Amino acid sequence: MDVMTLIDGKKVSAEIKEQVAAETGRLQQQTGKVPGLAVVLVGEDPASAVYVKNKNKTCANMGFQSFSHTLAADTEEKELLKLIAELNANPEVNGILVQLPLPAHINAPKVLEAVDPKKDVDGFHPVNVGILTSGGNGPAPCTPAGIIAMLDFYKIGIEGKQAVILGRSNIVGKPIASLLLKRHATVTICHSRTRDLPAVARSADILVAAIGKPRFVTPDMVKEGAVVIDVGINRVDGKLVGDVDFEKEVEKAAFITPVPGGVGPMTIAMLMKNTLNAFKKANNL
Ligand code: NAP
Repeated sequence: MDVMTLIDGKKVSAEIKEQVAAETGRLQQQTGKVPGLAVVLVGEDPASAVYVKNKNKTCANMGFQSFSHTLAADTEEKELLKLIAELNANPEVNGILVQLPLPAHINAPKVLEAVDPKKDVDGFHPVNVGILTSGGNGPAPCTPAGIIAMLDFYKIGIEGKQAVILGRSNIVGKPIASLLLKRHATVTICHSRTRDLPAVARSADILVAAIGKPRFVTPDMVKEGAVVIDVGINRVDGKLVGDVDFEKEVEKAAFITPVPGGVGPMTIAMLMKNTLNAFKKANNL
């Protein structure tokens, strides 16, 4: 491939956050109100604590109100459900995010289902999953929504393209399949039981790797001129690497996302956008 374009997730994310902050400012002048995001953390997982801190900081930068709730690791499920009910009832809260993973004694699906679907800015509630798979307009999970935003930013056409997704998780693989299908791609999802995965991957115009295996995608799995989106975040010898063997892939792809600095920064930008959208719907704006 002669010309390869690196997809700059930091740049796209910064631009989306700028738009969200500008619209928030305008709506505040118009209504006197700002979007509110509640982030609930149970336990002391250090990685989760960093994510929550970043979310609160980004909320402040957007002009949002943030509600941070940190509960002890041994908090009972009913206490957590009580907090969610309070947040559901609070009109100043437009988005509720329960940081995953939750401690093992808590039934995570039950907690996610307790969030009001209108405030489910993660797009994980079964009602919103249903809306997404039936082609409607609900909040889409943030990482997949971020992938579509990157493709659009770089004016990469989706309609009619062969899209192959490696991975079928509920947070990445399945929702990105629904979003690409909604945009009229022909979509194939691969997983651990797929036969001859390299051959399927080679048929892709748009290849999304979301399996969590360092450098799994090698050049023999990529068609010349394909768009390669690497969702994987893996730590190898203290370094972050994706699911794509980036150094080797660069030769073949027309567009490729690096790790870090590709898909990663998009998730938080789309969380802010989903929260702004929930605020607008709640206030008929
Ligand atoms: P997950 O829930 O662990 O799912 C992994 C998927 O990959 C499963 O569907 C699994 O197939 C499939 N898989 C695993 N090994 C395979 C193999 N050898 N061949 C074919 N398929 C294989 O993962 P996830 O939560 O979607 O996350 C995937 C990666 O994305 C991780 O590295 C994660 O850290 C990263 N991630 C990044 C962001 C972000 O950038 N903001 C957000 C979310 C996730 P089966 O279903 O058959 O087991």
